[in-house]
Amino acid sequence: MRIVLMGPPGAGKGTQAIVVAENLGIPHISTGDIFRANLKDGTSLGIEAKKYMDAGEYVPDTITNGMVADRLSQADAANGFLLDGYPRTVDQVHALNGILAQSELAIDSVVEITANTDEVVARLLNRAKEQGRADDTEDVIRRRMEVYAEQTAPLTDVYSDQGVLVKVDGMGSVDEVSSRIMAALRG
Ligand code: AMP
Repeated sequence: MRIVLMGPPGAGKGTQAIVVAENLGIPHISTGDIFRANLKDGTSLGIEAKKYMDAGEYVPDTITNGMVADRLSQADAANGFLLDGYPRTVDQVHALNGILAQSELAIDSVVEITANTDEVVARLLNRAKEQGRADDTEDVIRRRMEVYAEQTAPLTDVYSDQGVLVKVDGMGSVDEVSSRIMAALRG
């Protein structure tokens, strides 16, 4: 299965991505995790990405698309994957379609996790305390939500038109939400 998981910052996307990928036996590919790993290793990609991440802005598509193309060409992604946090722009949707089309493949399902904004901000502030992420300050959280609304929310219309979008309520326990996602994927 080739799956995309979408949802606003703080909707529990990263947590659910790990559980669902594990259940389905496919790799979990998070562009945010790849950027953070590069940053930790001090690579030029990581240093470049940090400028945008710290401000709550998106890393430019040219950087992100190349990185994803590279990751999807690895052997473990040949029979399926769960993308977490990608695509996030219309340009990235086209890039992903192009990468998959080379192998006559396509995305099977796009899961949108929906969440209440106040709840989401509270969750993110809590994560900031627990994990100390540089992009979890209140100002940056607000900016990330704006950027999501402007650039990523419109993608759901694109995927809905393609007939691959399923919406899942992200409110509730981790188990409740992952059960909903698994049920939605089974159709
Ligand atoms: P995440 O862990 O998915 O919340 O991503 C953390 C940050 O990494 C985002 O706020 C962006 O700055 C950057 N990032 C992750 N994925 C993408 C993407 N698909 N396009 C652009 N920037 C991204």
